[in-house]
Amino acid sequence: MQVERARELGLCYGVRRAVGLLREAAATHGKVETLGPIAHNRLLLAELGALGIRTVDDVSDLAGPVVVVSAHGVSPDMKQSLQTRGFEIVDTTCPNVARVQHLARDLSVQGFSVVVFGEAEHTEVRGLVGWGGKGAVAALRAEDVAHTYGTAIPRRIAVIAQTTQRAEDMALFAAELSSLLLGDVEELRFVNTRCTATDLRQRAARDLAHNVDLMFVIGGHNSANTRRLATTCAAIVETHHIEDVGEVEYAWLDGHQRIGITAGASTPDESIETLEARLRSI
Ligand code: SF4
Repeated sequence: MQVERARELGLCYGVRRAVGLLREAAATHGKVETLGPIAHNRLLLAELGALGIRTVDDVSDLAGPVVVVSAHGVSPDMKQSLQTRGFEIVDTTCPNVARVQHLARDLSVQGFSVVVFGEAEHTEVRGLVGWGGKGAVAALRAEDVAHTYGTAIPRRIAVIAQTTQRAEDMALFAAELSSLLLGDVEELRFVNTRCTATDLRQRAARDLAHNVDLMFVIGGHNSANTRRLATTCAAIVETHHIEDVGEVEYAWLDGHQRIGITAGASTPDESIETLEARLRSI
């Protein structure tokens, strides 16, 4: 049985950088709190928890004095609220996300109504909607945008994307939104704000899936980008999305000779190494 890794997989630059800054903050200040999970990976969070790093989901539960903003970033209002409450902020927002935040703000200043193609409840998307200003909305389906506008369709609309969205999904969204709104708007602009780290992992996963007869995707079950890797691979070959090596069932391997591994952008290196070692040992 052969085991092969995708040529690009695992922790992206932004999450790796955020985890490094978080470790530094914990070493300097002792206990620190992150507003929302620093990454959507249970094992990584457990490891950081052992360093005294606590995840707090609601701003009202923060004890302070040091609060870490995750790689996904926050809205300007949220940052202002943290400052007003006197917290010391360690901002680990990924530079790519920060670029999209500033673009959302600039588009809004130029008079566009901003649409964020992404999961409305995701931390990054909530932040981007905040940067997009009054009237900014988030949606995964074009019809939801049209429904939100009703008859009050803005004259100028700019669409940006959550950084981890897939190209094919954004293309479909763009086509459907154009078909629904183009007759009523003066300008409909699409800006491809997807991250190259996502593209590289998606392409590498797709290429590997075509060359193996079984794929493992390792990463948080609640990690959006990991789930999208699993969706991509599952369309090509039998695929199992696991978060922990303990979830592997030996029966899955029956009759398979070539096994591929890929991992989400928030999956720690150790998880990948442990999975590879486990599969090789079978
Ligand atoms: S996927 Fe891209 S944008 Fe998101 S944290 Fe990683 S490097 Fe930054």
